[in-house]
Amino acid sequence: MKTGKLIVFSAPSGSGKTTLVNYLLEQNLTLGFSVSATSRKPRGKEENGKDYYFLNKDTFREKIKENAFVEYEEVYNGSFYGTLKSELERIWRTGKHILFDIDVKGGLNIKAQYPEKTFAVFVKPPSIKELEKRLRDRGTENEYKIQQRLNKSAAELKFSKDFDAVLINDDLNKAKEEVQRLVEKFLFS
Ligand code: ADP
Ligand code: 5GP
Repeated sequence: MKTGKLIVFSAPSGSGKTTLVNYLLEQNLTLGFSVSATSRKPRGKEENGKDYYFLNKDTFREKIKENAFVEYEEVYNGSFYGTLKSELERIWRTGKHILFDIDVKGGLNIKAQYPEKTFAVFVKPPSIKELEKRLRDRGTENEYKIQQRLNKSAAELKFSKDFDAVLINDDLNKAKEEVQRLVEKFLFS
């Protein structure tokens, strides 16, 4: 199979990586979104097979045993997330490059496995205060989960130096322009 390139977006939760990933998917860049598997429950309007493959914990564990994942992490206590090997094959079969929205460890894991053809972007919030505000304004998590995500962010920020690019998502329009420029450069030059 002729395989495409991999573009990874990682960031503390609330930084805006999903917003930027969705923006990129709307541009004409032949990108396919890697739908991850997760053991967490669907949130809001999330759809199985589009936002995630929602698996129960037992099925997720079976897939780990079968070696079906390229990478997986217990991102939050009790919630597993992972990239299925079959997902990479599905996207490459369509002739597209793969776009990932995954946690920091998972992102670096993908880069370690495909060092030559991965571009890993770390999306950084302008400050922890702003990160907290975005998480609260998004209104998708309860207070416990917001704290869980904020607590994790300091450790995640330390990994930014291991990424190919660090994008500060302050002004959203500027961040969109910058992300498009970076990705086009990686894909076409
Ligand atoms: P992540 O995927 O990193 O958890 P999201 O893309 O869901 O983050 O963004 C978190 C929240 O912040 C969303 O409500 C989103 O609309 C908002 N947001 C994203 N980028 C910006 C920005 N540059 N300025 C203000 N709000 C933003
Ligand atoms: P959420 O629950 O907000 O959708 O995602 C929580 C975190 O899990 C985010 O940081 C997201 O990027 C990460 N994540 C989503 N899919 C994967 C995956 O396949 N592997 C890993 N390692 N992390 C993932």
